[in-house]
Amino acid sequence: KVRVRFAPSPTGPLHIGGVRTALFNYLFAKKHGGDFILRIEDTDQNRYVEGAEQYIIDSLNWCGIPFDEGIGKDGGYGPYRQSERKSLYKKYADELIKNGKAYYAFDTAESLDGHRKNHEENGKTFIYNWHNRLKLDNSLSLMPEEVQQRLDNGVEFVIRFLTPPDEKLELNDIIRGSMQIDTNVLDDKVLFKSDGMPTYHLANIVDDHLMEITHVIRGEEWLPSLALHKQLYDAFGWDLPEFAHLPLIMKPVGKGKLSKRDGEKLGFPVFPLSWNESAGYKEEGYFPEAVINFLALLGWNPGTEQELFSLDELVAAFSLERVNKSGARFDPEKTKWYNQHYLQQAVDVDLAKSFLPTVKKQTTNELYSSLEYVTQVVTLIKERAVFVSDFWELSDYFFIAPKKYNEKAVKKQWKEDTADIMNDLIATIKPIEDFSSENTETLVKAWIAEKELSFGKVMPPLRLFLVGDMKGPHIFDIMSMIGKEESIARIETALN
Ligand code: GLU
Repeated sequence: KVRVRFAPSPTGPLHIGGVRTALFNYLFAKKHGGDFILRIEDTDQNRYVEGAEQYIIDSLNWCGIPFDEGIGKDGGYGPYRQSERKSLYKKYADELIKNGKAYYAFDTAESLDGHRKNHEENGKTFIYNWHNRLKLDNSLSLMPEEVQQRLDNGVEFVIRFLTPPDEKLELNDIIRGSMQIDTNVLDDKVLFKSDGMPTYHLANIVDDHLMEITHVIRGEEWLPSLALHKQLYDAFGWDLPEFAHLPLIMKPVGKGKLSKRDGEKLGFPVFPLSWNESAGYKEEGYFPEAVINFLALLGWNPGTEQELFSLDELVAAFSLERVNKSGARFDPEKTKWYNQHYLQQAVDVDLAKSFLPTVKKQTTNELYSSLEYVTQVVTLIKERAVFVSDFWELSDYFFIAPKKYNEKAVKKQWKEDTADIMNDLIATIKPIEDFSSENTETLVKAWIAEKELSFGKVMPPLRLFLVGDMKGPHIFDIMSMIGKEESIARIETALN
């Protein structure tokens, strides 16, 4: 059975890149009838941020991609927080030591810094591996008794992986194919720290193994760790899961990966939900369906021209083979395009419910602030909206009389005979009993024909007086909505 995991570290809010990783894991799991697991990788206590874990859970839920197994949803592989699995990791580190695959190292931070500096001065990067392992003060240049003595004396230690020299590793990635790497360029990474905590690498491999993860789907930034991870699986004698490293999400303009700063500069959210001062997609009025849809196409392509996908359609169409190797450029305009689409798809009464609080702030009129009325308004104007927050500007005249009139339009539309015509129009509509859009339209048109007026003399000024501008849907729809009295009142106000 397919088992995939999303394994964020709770070091802050989830970036949309993280959401995309979660989404691809979710899609892959659902496509194969598998399980999507959330594991919290909180072994680095220094970087722990209060509230981040809940934020991650809330984000997945809001996006509509909930996990099957994880915190609060035990699937028999828990606990799902690495800090609660702490006692588990030491024995695996010990096992590697015992088998000669790892070793104690006693270097101080200062001595390591010194080595790094020395190398830098010579234009080289310092690699802690077999070339210089023996030159450093670590256990490989120490006899076992000396190591024991230091441990007994409580000297600070770490456990490092012993990278075998002169080997060619073959690495496989579903997206990138196979890669070869020479072990001589690899660091002896720290697996376990003297504070009793494993590092990311050890905990990650142990947990993926114990949780029976079949596919590791994660961001490209973890590709450099793959060599070590493969060696760790080999060192334990465990089967490797399959790996897929997702391409980076790139800045909308210029080079490099998308950052929080790009969002601030160009005015788009980079988080699903708000975090401190930064608004998220939710608060900015995005539909989760839109977010999921645009994230899915960041790095994946269906092989067709189709751009609009429901979550079910994504599950059906998704495959890791169709994930691109190269970075995916983030396009904030496209996210709006998606939202506009999902707004058109949304049920009008639901949209009206979201819009209602805004309306109620502007009018106490019972008719205008009723859900039924607001729903009708939404139906008439939503076509041009990207967000529910656009509704007010597109529809204010349905609720309140115009406070000003577009000056340019006034200049153009106000003619010598306008006042007379409009007064005559008032007289025409006053007696109308059935003020439905169709009936009023028929009667007003009959009056225009009878008086041999042109449409251009009636309709534009009428719209201007009712709306304040030359915008909006069919004018008789507007009249019928706001009602006869209000229509007449607005024309009269404009004439005075
Ligand atoms: N804890 C790592 C992160 O924060 C997980 C990387 C992985 O999926 O292996 O992204």
